[in-house]
Amino acid sequence: MADQEDKPDPQHTDSWNAMMAAVQAFHNKHDFKNTGGEELNYRVALMAEELGEISSCITKGKSKDLLSEELADLLILLMGTDIAAGVDLKLAFWNKMDKLMQRESRMVNGRIRVSEFRDMG
Ligand SMILES: [Mg+2]
Repeated sequence: MADQEDKPDPQHTDSWNAMMAAVQAFHNKHDFKNTGGEELNYRVALMAEELGEISSCITKGKSKDLLSEELADLLILLMGTDIAAGVDLKLAFWNKMDKLMQRESRMVNGRIRVSEFRDMG
C-alpha cells in the first residue's frame, strides 16, 4: 500500500463528484435507503439538529475546529438529501448562484439582505 500513499486521496479533493461518491458510500455502508436513513422527514430533523449544533458553536464561542465539524455535518446531510430526494444539488447550486448574482441588495435593520424584495416598499 506504500505506493498509494504518494497519490492524493480522491475523496479528499475539491470535486463535487468525489464528495458525493463519499456520501453515497456512507449511505451504502449503513444501507440508509432501506433503513429509514433516506426518509426526508427524518433528514429534515437531522439537519435541524445540526443547525442547532452550529448555532451552539457560535453563540457559546466554541472553537473554529468544532464549528467546521458541525458545518461539515450539515453539508454531508445536505449532500445526502440530494441522494435521498433524487435531485441534482450541484445543478441547483449553480442555477441559484446565477439568480443570486442578479439580485439587488438592501440594508434591512442594519444588515445587508440579498432578495427579490417583492413585498417590501
Ligand atoms: Mg454535529
